[in-house]
Amino acid sequence: MTYESLQQQFQALYQRPAQGVASAPGRVNLIGEFTDYNQGFVFPCSLDFRTVVLFAARSDQQLVVHSVNYPGEHDSFALDQPVVTGPSQWGNYIRAMVYVLKGAGLQLGGADLLISSNVPQGAGLSSSAALEVAIGGAFNQLNTLGLSLQQIALFGQQAENDFMDCQCGIMDQLISAKGAQGYALLIDCRDLQTTAVALPADLKLVIINSNYPRKLVDSEYNQRRIDCEQAAQKMGLQSLRDGTLALLQATKPQLTDTEYRRARHVISENNRVLATQQALAANDMAALSALMRASHLSLRDDFEVTVPPVDGLVDICRETLGDEIAVRMTGGGFGGAIVCLCRDEHVPLLREALTNNYQQRFALHADFYLCSAGGGLQIELFNALPAANA
Ligand code: ADP
Ligand code: MG
Repeated sequence: MTYESLQQQFQALYQRPAQGVASAPGRVNLIGEFTDYNQGFVFPCSLDFRTVVLFAARSDQQLVVHSVNYPGEHDSFALDQPVVTGPSQWGNYIRAMVYVLKGAGLQLGGADLLISSNVPQGAGLSSSAALEVAIGGAFNQLNTLGLSLQQIALFGQQAENDFMDCQCGIMDQLISAKGAQGYALLIDCRDLQTTAVALPADLKLVIINSNYPRKLVDSEYNQRRIDCEQAAQKMGLQSLRDGTLALLQATKPQLTDTEYRRARHVISENNRVLATQQALAANDMAALSALMRASHLSLRDDFEVTVPPVDGLVDICRETLGDEIAVRMTGGGFGGAIVCLCRDEHVPLLREALTNNYQQRFALHADFYLCSAGGGLQIELFNALPAANA
């Protein structure tokens, strides 16, 4: 990838060249929903949508940042002062990273930064994690911090948790940091062990955003967490990760109906993640389709986190391609997106079916993203100036 135009923009903004660039991808979760906080498995894939951060060290303690995605705005703050929330909403993600890195006792020098991204924002593809990981990568390089990819991901998660007030798990940042081109990453949320699994070359990743306005997400999310914890406790488990369907059946009389169904989702979903790993490795579309179907129905009926437009998107896909598509809701639920795996040649049919049916059924416009699996955090140093503007 060339960064010539961005290097020129950097030069124009800061009157000096960028020293290098850090870049990190957005992501989609293939399967393994609401399993992360039950110490289970998730199976995300990094995308070929990326956030890049051009950087150059300054001789003072100032951090200055512009984003091509927010033209005319910038943020600037002193690193030797306590980090507080700033006037720019997006600038706070950079402040958040500084806050956690400084909080860990790391020394940061001033820098000029320029961000640019083609990760759609607020569409459930985790543009915020891509930004945090790219910023973490830039700071790591600029200050020779020696952080591992996992450490950068953990700082990104902590930035969301402690500064941005978003209680996310580790999945988004870990896949953004450690993703690999052409691979999905099975993550064990108990010990953060990762296993890269190649995606069959003839499979396409399609993500479709329902654009249904998400409401009550936090309170419902928290209630689901409590339901899972109570179910685990009544089953005598530290977490639902250790549960089996047989144990669930045996302890059914002690559980409320809601707890039983929440636990059934988590336990069966963990099993499905591991089965999906096998199905992907075997390029078995019938098995993938059945597993993602079961995941979606479990999220709809047992975990109760889908909404009619998202169920409708899944129905339209299945009406069009039957078992030639693996499709389910992805992300936090109550709206958001669906993820599909299908053969390349079926993509036009899918697009047409959505255009013809979704708006008509739900009075909403769906966004269609055709993606492939991109690589994780990358750092590149520039050794030559881009050609001067002639
Ligand atoms: P998601 O992570 O699902 O895309 P979030 O609301 O968590 O949605 O994060 C989106 C926010 O991240 C944006 O509103 C913006 O503040 C910040 N952000 C993402 N990408 C960029 C970018 N390229 N430049 C500046 N800020 C960005
Ligand atoms: Mg986010």
